[in-house]
Amino acid sequence: MGRIQSIHSFSTVDGPGTRSVVFFQGCPVRCVFCQNPDSWDPLAGEEISVESLIKRLERFRSFLAEPGLTISGGEPLAQPKFALELIKEAKNLGWHVALDTSGACSAERFIEVAGAVDLVMFSIKHPLYPERVMGYDYGKVLENWRRLAHLSVPVWLRYVLISGWTDEPEALKALGELAQENPNLERLEILPYNSLAENKWTKLGLANPLQSGPKPGVTEEQLKQAEDLTGWLKR
Ligand code: SF4
Repeated sequence: MGRIQSIHSFSTVDGPGTRSVVFFQGCPVRCVFCQNPDSWDPLAGEEISVESLIKRLERFRSFLAEPGLTISGGEPLAQPKFALELIKEAKNLGWHVALDTSGACSAERFIEVAGAVDLVMFSIKHPLYPERVMGYDYGKVLENWRRLAHLSVPVWLRYVLISGWTDEPEALKALGELAQENPNLERLEILPYNSLAENKWTKLGLANPLQSGPKPGVTEEQLKQAEDLTGWLKR
């Protein structure tokens, strides 16, 4: 049994093609830009078995061009056994399975789960000043990022660009250097900060530092500049 926050039947932004997404419940990372703060509490959400989850997912299959499943959250690696069982069952049924993770877990868990999927989408929160935007040990995250280079699994690296928080040129250059470390990297995605979830923070009674400082949104031009600063070329 595991705990999930929600299931989305159809997404075009959570990996390649069209996919269903399972959002796991529970996350220890506490990012200031989190879109799903309601997924943090590991005891909330819905308890469900892999069997029931797969039954629900199979109903969505006919709407998808190819059966794609993304395991997101929350942090899926906070429930490694449940994640692994779901991955194995889904893959047996022909789903292409992607793991959307912050890398916040032990080495053993990371290798086991990341090594079982078809694609890892790994988020680095800030390569130089992680404590500014997250509440988890960045050293562990970085070690897992480096471990990923030794697994033969395609990788996308993701980074949320927030004006005044994660957009220093030296941070973007450092991100580009991390990207270069992984020979299996297919894509480096710089994602603009999205303020749509700010209301969730308020409703949950959480203080969000991004809401009290300068506007964190970014323009198309800032995004383009950030991509250029990473120096990462599409292979
Ligand atoms: S890792 Fe993801 S779910 Fe967890 S706090 Fe950060 S953005 Fe939110």
